[in-house]
Amino acid sequence: MIAPDLETGIARLREMVEAARVIVPFTGAGISTECGIPDFRSPGGIWTKNQPILYDDFLASQEMRNEAWRRRFAMEEQFGGAKPGRGHRALASLYRAGKSPGVITQNIDNLHQASGVAPEDVVELHGNSTYAVCLDCAKRYELTWVKEIFTSSGGRAPDCPDCNGYIKSATVSFGQAMPEAAMARAEALTLVGDLFIVVGSSLVVWPAAGFPIRAKRNGAKLAIVNREPTEIDTVADLVIRQDIGTVLAPLIAH
Ligand SMILES: [Zn+2]
Repeated sequence: MIAPDLETGIARLREMVEAARVIVPFTGAGISTECGIPDFRSPGGIWTKNQPILYDDFLASQEMRNEAWRRRFAMEEQFGGAKPGRGHRALASLYRAGKSPGVITQNIDNLHQASGVAPEDVVELHGNSTYAVCLDCAKRYELTWVKEIFTSSGGRAPDCPDCNGYIKSATVSFGQAMPEAAMARAEALTLVGDLFIVVGSSLVVWPAAGFPIRAKRNGAKLAIVNREPTEIDTVADLVIRQDIGTVLAPLIAH
């Protein structure tokens, strides 16, 4: 059912949460917009003005790698101080209460970890923008280190001191393969839940929609909290098209 109003939606969601044994949340950009992080893919979002750098282009030229890092540090100034919102805090409450074993997210903003979910329990389908990795040897680099070299070299993206590989933020770029380990963990998490909650994702970007459908086929209940209609509203047990923070705030344990 589509909740006819906010109150009904909140009440139904609470019933479903209370009845569930294992809750698996799946989050997208919509959970972070109240934290000041824009939905990059939405109309007017950064990527409609600034074409994203494709993975192959990043690999192909030093200029593109420089540009990728220039943009990353410009973003840092804008969103670096973002704090978890009500949605993150609500899901972290379910996690701490032992109702939810972890979160699957399309976001790269690290806000689930910042809200108290252990990093190993956050499955990041699109990676994480708050650190960097060498594309060849997979060594992790902190952004402060990258920035230091970038700034002192006049805007040149650094290479890996160990192996000379390219260093890229740990996100999954357009044209880059989905991370297999994260996909496998998301799949496993999906199958242990008896309540799957989509929060702030329109489920358009592949393979997002596959997870809730999988959960539903596996016998789980499905709730979708998203301002806009999604591709799979018709198969959901509950659809709430309201402000995400407002809907989830009552689940925050104080
Ligand atoms: Zn390396």
